[in-house]
Amino acid sequence: MTTAVVELRGCTRDYGAVRAVDALDLAVHEGEFLALLGPSGCGKTTTLNLVAGFVEPTAGRVLIDGEDVTGRPPHLRGLGVVFQSYALFPHLSVRENVAFGLRERRMAAAEIERRVGDALELVRLEPAGRQRPSELSGGMQQRVALARALVYRPRVLLLDEPLAALDKKLREGMRDELRTIHRSVGITTIFVTHDQAEALGLADRIAVMNRGRIEQLGPPREIYERPATRFVADFIGASTVLRGRAVAADRVVVAGGTLHVGGRALRAGADVELAIRPERLRLVAAAGDNVLDARVEGLVYQGAQTEVTARLGDGQRVLVFVGEPAPVPLAVGQTLRLFLPGEAFMVLDDR
Ligand code: ATP
Repeated sequence: MTTAVVELRGCTRDYGAVRAVDALDLAVHEGEFLALLGPSGCGKTTTLNLVAGFVEPTAGRVLIDGEDVTGRPPHLRGLGVVFQSYALFPHLSVRENVAFGLRERRMAAAEIERRVGDALELVRLEPAGRQRPSELSGGMQQRVALARALVYRPRVLLLDEPLAALDKKLREGMRDELRTIHRSVGITTIFVTHDQAEALGLADRIAVMNRGRIEQLGPPREIYERPATRFVADFIGASTVLRGRAVAADRVVVAGGTLHVGGRALRAGADVELAIRPERLRLVAAAGDNVLDARVEGLVYQGAQTEVTARLGDGQRVLVFVGEPAPVPLAVGQTLRLFLPGEAFMVLDDR
């Protein structure tokens, strides 16, 4: 196996009584775009700061290209860092901002010129080189910050919520921009975000964090379609969790109906939690296998679909996205017949 570009081995970081990061193991591979995703306070930024060297671990080691860099100052780790706040020098032009660090390092003028040109071209800001940051939009300023990090040709790029300060439209534009830049440079990137759409759309792999630990690490599709824990199922996308009892290896009784469940051998008699995404349920006319009746409690029209909240016979709630136009008129109080496809169930491993 090839050496990981970045590796955290058993990293813990305490702040007084608060354990921000808890015995974390993580390996990031060459060229990979890895997202650290999770709710506020789960330890994402602390994890990124451990890699950057802004924070040292209470226990554990940090390796870059197989070399132990624990205790090494940030500027000697060969990393580029971009924060949510761009922190550009307001009195310097775009070019001067990007060149600043290289000048400090006394690099030859021709080399600086070349590198600054390359970095600005990469973020498509060459025409704005003479402008001041205040003359640029938020998205453009963030691209300057990105160019300033890339101009060093770092081994690894660390991004801490770089899109959070931008409005929705700009954020989507920058998301595409980041993807394009990552493709063209192929730089190993770690990206902190609390925005699941960003993580799903950008990352090769997502580490879903909760309370200083990684709950699940995998490609976006796997995280979305096969959440390993209830926390991940709740945090990523919308889902309904149904409690039931397994009556055979592939059958679970929920609210008096029998559901055939694909993919996993269940232990008969076990209490089981099944999650299902709201877009996977379908309205049907006839009773049958994997069909449950539910009474509509709430309707939220959203243009492309209506979000329906309904209650099963035993009181459990289900969420259903019904695409527009709906196959039947929807009304609160009516009973809907729902088909829950067996292959759409995610059996949760509760810890
Ligand atoms: P957010 O998205 O809100 O930034 P996060 O997932 O990045 O959250 P961290 O910033 O890593 O989480 O914080 C993890 C925990 O460590 C939190 O409980 C936080 O209060 C605590 N913490 C982080 N930095 C410090 C610090 N410098 N001093 C004290 N406690 C800290």
